[in-house]
Amino acid sequence: MIQLEQFRFLVPSLRDVLEILVVAYIIYRALLFLAGTRALQIILGLIVLVVVYFAALVLKFNMIVTLLGVVFTYGAFVAIVVFQPELRHALARLGGSRALAYFTTGGRNVVADEIAQAVDRLSRAGTGAIIAVEGDVSLDAYLETGTEMRAMVSGELLSTIFTPYSPLHDGAVVIRGDQIVGAGCVLPLTQFPVTDKSLGTRHRAALGLSEESDAVVVVVSEETSRISIAVGGLLHQGMTAPQVREALANRGHPSLALTTAPSEPSAS
Ligand code: ATP
Ligand code: MG
Repeated sequence: MIQLEQFRFLVPSLRDVLEILVVAYIIYRALLFLAGTRALQIILGLIVLVVVYFAALVLKFNMIVTLLGVVFTYGAFVAIVVFQPELRHALARLGGSRALAYFTTGGRNVVADEIAQAVDRLSRAGTGAIIAVEGDVSLDAYLETGTEMRAMVSGELLSTIFTPYSPLHDGAVVIRGDQIVGAGCVLPLTQFPVTDKSLGTRHRAALGLSEESDAVVVVVSEETSRISIAVGGLLHQGMTAPQVREALANRGHPSLALTTAPSEPSAS
């Protein structure tokens, strides 16, 4: 009995469990922030420096320890100045996170409306299009492949962008919040074999991005005028404009709105 008493501290209290959960969630969100950004490489570099620092400490390489100490002291200030745009963006995203977005779903519905309107018009006109709506995972890496822009989402503007021969019609439009932040962006193709021959690179790119991120990607086929949505590595084909609207408005739980059975998904 006495021995058991000694190990009492090993039994986690409810408070400990709660704290572990909160910390795990914060680490998860931080990794989501970093995924696909330059910051990840920088952090890997920092880890290397820290390892070198401790190795030097153990081996008593005093000059290296002193030099790295200086680097760490002033590096923090340098980082704040150099990464000011990224930090601002990160804080802005923090403010726009899903918990807060709960209160601003009105804005999301407007965006869903505009996209559905554009997709309807594009499908009727037989114009091909691919629109990626960003989720929690940043799509910054893909913006660099196209033309960055800043414009309120509107059905008319989206239809205009995809008009054949317009300079930006080739590639994907990226939407963040209520803004079109990029056009002509090149998205990653799915790595899985796609057997349906009518699905070309546009549909493979939609699938590819939905595998690599939590983005919802809407595609209008130029060949068949069909509307599809790629979410979580699955392609839902033959959607109607109202279904697109529903899926985007419920983007936290797209499966609730996607009643059509996913067809021709990536083999997994
Ligand atoms: P559709 O049914 O509209 O023909 P598809 O799936 O057959 O679509 P393709 O005909 O191969 O696709 O490509 C059509 C267009 O898709 C391209 O002109 C380009 O604008 C766009 N596209 C192709 N690859 C990508 C990509 N990786 N990222 C973004 N857009 C792409
Ligand atoms: Mg094609």
